[in-house]
Amino acid sequence: MQHYISQLNEAQQAPVLQKDGPMIIIAGAGSGKTRVLTIRIAYLMHQGVDAFNILALTFTNKAAREMKKRIADIVGSSEAKNLWMGTFHSVFARILRSEADKLGYPSNFTIYDSQDSVRLIGAIIKEMQLDKDVYKPKQVLGRISSYKNSLITVKAYFNNPELQEQDAMSKKPRLGEIYQNYVDRCFKAGAMDFDDLLLKTNELLTRFPDVLAKYQDRFRYILVDEYQDTNHSQYLIVRALSDRFQNICVVGDDAQSIYAFRGANINNILNFQKDYDGVKTYRLEQNYRSSKNIVEAANSIIDKNKTKLDKVVWTANADGPRIKVHRSLTDGEEGRFVASEIFEKKMQLQMMNGQFAILYRTNAQSRAMEDALRKRDIPYRIYGGLSFYQRKEIKDVLCYLRLVINPKDEEALVRVINYPARGIGDTTVEKLTIAANHYKRSIFEVMEHIDKIDLKLNSGTKSRIQDFVTMIKSFQVIDQNHDAFYLAEHVTKKTGLIQELKKDGTPEGIARLENIEELLNGIKDFIEGQKEVDGARGALSEFLEDVALATDLDKDTGDDDRVALMTIHLAKGLEFPYVFIVGMEEDLFPSAMSVSTRSELEEERRLFYVALTRAEHQAYLTYAQSRYRWGKLMDSEPSRFIDEIKGEYLEYLTPTESNYRYKPMIDMDIFGDVDKSKLRLSKPVNGTPPKRYDDDEPSPNLNIRKLKPVASNPPTSSGSSASDTKLNVGNIVMHERFGKGQVLNIEGAGADKKAEIKFEVGGIKKLLLRFARLDIL
Ligand code: ATP
Ligand code: MG
Repeated sequence: MQHYISQLNEAQQAPVLQKDGPMIIIAGAGSGKTRVLTIRIAYLMHQGVDAFNILALTFTNKAAREMKKRIADIVGSSEAKNLWMGTFHSVFARILRSEADKLGYPSNFTIYDSQDSVRLIGAIIKEMQLDKDVYKPKQVLGRISSYKNSLITVKAYFNNPELQEQDAMSKKPRLGEIYQNYVDRCFKAGAMDFDDLLLKTNELLTRFPDVLAKYQDRFRYILVDEYQDTNHSQYLIVRALSDRFQNICVVGDDAQSIYAFRGANINNILNFQKDYDGVKTYRLEQNYRSSKNIVEAANSIIDKNKTKLDKVVWTANADGPRIKVHRSLTDGEEGRFVASEIFEKKMQLQMMNGQFAILYRTNAQSRAMEDALRKRDIPYRIYGGLSFYQRKEIKDVLCYLRLVINPKDEEALVRVINYPARGIGDTTVEKLTIAANHYKRSIFEVMEHIDKIDLKLNSGTKSRIQDFVTMIKSFQVIDQNHDAFYLAEHVTKKTGLIQELKKDGTPEGIARLENIEELLNGIKDFIEGQKEVDGARGALSEFLEDVALATDLDKDTGDDDRVALMTIHLAKGLEFPYVFIVGMEEDLFPSAMSVSTRSELEEERRLFYVALTRAEHQAYLTYAQSRYRWGKLMDSEPSRFIDEIKGEYLEYLTPTESNYRYKPMIDMDIFGDVDKSKLRLSKPVNGTPPKRYDDDEPSPNLNIRKLKPVASNPPTSSGSSASDTKLNVGNIVMHERFGKGQVLNIEGAGADKKAEIKFEVGGIKKLLLRFARLDIL
C-alpha cells in the first residue's frame, strides 16, 4: 500500500491519509483528483474499513468499473467486490428495488428512458387536447425534470403560486396538470423515469427514518467524484446519507462545472464548507496530464471567467507543441483535415487510433468527421447520440422483454401491442387506454379482463387481445424456467419480429435483423458475465436494468482500437494524447443560445476549458468558414475562444493559397469506395454501436441515400464494369481512389456481392460490387 501512496505527491497524500471527517478536494483539471479518490478508497480498506461500508459515486459506470479494477489490483479482487460504486442513478436504482414496496412500487419497476417519457407526455398532451406546438413534449419533460431535480413534487407545485404563474406566463398554464397526469401514469405503470430514481430515493430517505438509518450505517464512507456537477436532488441524498458519520469526501473543479442546463448546481461545491462542521479543504496544483503549453493556455482561458474559485495549476511536464489552429472552407474539408492529420500521425509515430479524440459541441457535427474518417479507413466510435438500445428494432425487442418483467409497463405495451401488426388498431388501443385510466388500472389488466368490460369491441378484436395476453404470459412462464438468452430468442421468433424484418428484405431490414442478432449476442455475453458475479439474480431483469442505466460511455469495452468521437460534455474526466476540438466557430461554440448572459457564456468557457484539458500532448482547434446547419450553408466566424488564448501558445496552420497542404477537394457524394461492412454502421462491436443514427433517417446504412447505383454511374474509363458478373478471383482491377489491386475473393450474390481486393496502396479491402466503381484491367 505504501508503494501506491508514495506515488502521490505530498498534496495528494494529505487527503488520502486523513481517514475521517468531511473533506473537499478542489483542484484543476488533470491534477489527480480521480486518482486520489481511488487510492483513498484502497487505503481506507487497507486500514480495515469494510468494502461494504464504502460508497463511491462517479460520473459514468465505466469510471466506476475502472476505479474498482484499480482498487482490486491494490487490495485484491475479493475485497474490492463488495464496494458500492457507480453513478447516482445506478446505485440508487439498486437501493430502490429493494425498498420499492415502501413507496408503493413493485420491485420489478421499469425504468423509462427519455424516449418513453417524451412519448408518454406527448400522449397526455393529446388526451388533454392541448396544442402540441405550445406544449412541446420535450420542453415539458425538461420542465418536469427540473421540478423533480429540485424536489418540487406535484403537490409542492400546486402549493407554489409563483411557479404556476411562471408557467402561465410562458403560455403553459396547464403544465401542472400534465405533471400530475404524467406522475400518475408512471406510477400506474410501475415505472420510474431517470429523475424519479433520485426523487424517490429522497422520498425514501425522508419518509422512512429507519431506512435512512440503515443506509447511513452502511455507507460510513462516502466519496463523490465530479461533485461540481451534482444537482440539488443528488446533493440532498449525499447530505442525508453522510449525516451520521460525516465521513464524506468530495472532489471537483468549479472550473469544470458544465451541466447547469441539466440542473447541476455549482453552489454545491461552493457551499460545501458550510454544510459540515470542520471541513478540511485540500487543493492540488500540479497537473500531470498535459504538456505545459496546454496547461497554460487552459489557465489563460479560465482566467476570463469572473465567477470562479482562485486556483493555481502548473505542470512540470515538457512544453510540448503549441496548439494548432486550422481554418477550412467547409465542414467537409475540416473533416478531411482532421482525418489526414490522424492518418499522418499514425504513420509517422505509430500511434494507435485510441490515442485520438475528436470533440465537438453538438452531436450533429459528427457527420462530417465520420465521412472523412471512413474515406481514410480510420476506425472510429461515436459515443452518445442515439444509443444502440434506442434503435427501433432493438427497442421493440426490449419492450417485449420489459412486458415480461412488468406487464403494467404502458410504454412498452403501447409500442408493441400492434407491432408486428396483429389487428389491434389505434382506436382499440385508445379505448383500452381510456378504460385503464378510468379504472385506475394498467392497460394490461384491462386486457386481461376484456371479457368483462364493455368497450364495444367486436369479437375478433377481443380474441386478438386475449391472444396477446396469452402470449405475454407464456413468455413469463419461459422466463421462470430459462435464461434470458433463450427467452429473448424465443420472443423474437414468436412475436413475428424476425419474420417481419425478413419480409422487408431491404438493406435496412437486413441491417435491423443483424442488430437484433447483436442484441442477442449481447444478452449472451451478459449472462456469461453474470455467472461470475456472486448472488446474481434473475438475469433478464438485471440485463434490462443494465440497459436502462447504461451511460453513453459504458459500452466501451476498450478492447478494440478506435478514434473516439464525442461531445465535450461526455469527455469530462477522460484524457487522450491528441485532441481535436472541431467547429470552433461563433454561434456553434460558444453556442448561439448561450451568449446572451455572462453566466451562460462562462459555462461555455468552462466547457472549452474541459475540452482543452483532455489533451495530453497536442491539441488542435479547427473551424470552417461555412458549414451546413439546419440544411442551409451558413457563413461562420472563428470562435472568440481562439482569440482568448494568448498567441504564444498557438500555431496557426491557416493556409494561404500557395502553401495549402490540404487542398480543398470537391465534396464527393458518392462513396463508391466504401465497403459494406463500413456502410453498415449499425453493426455494433461488442454490443456497442459504432455509429449514431436517427430513427427517422431513411436508413441505418448511413450513405445509402447518397449512393447511386452503378447503372446510372457508368465507369468513366474503358474496361468492363465490375458490377457485371465477369469479375473473378485473380483479376487485376483499377479503383477510382485506391488504384490498382488484385481480387482475392468474391462472396455473396446479387446486390450483396462483395469482392475482397488487395490494393497496392491501402491494403486489403472488401467492397460491395454494387457500389464499387472498378474497372477490370
Ligand atoms: P479531471 O479534472 O480531468 O477529472 P483529475 O484531477 O481527476 O482530472 P486524474 O485523471 O486523476 O486527474 O489524473 C490525471 C492524469 O495524471 C492521470 O493520467 C493520472 O494517472 C496522472 N497522475 C495523477 N497524479 C499523478 C502523480 N502523482 N504522478 C504521476 N501521474 C499522476
Ligand atoms: Mg477526474
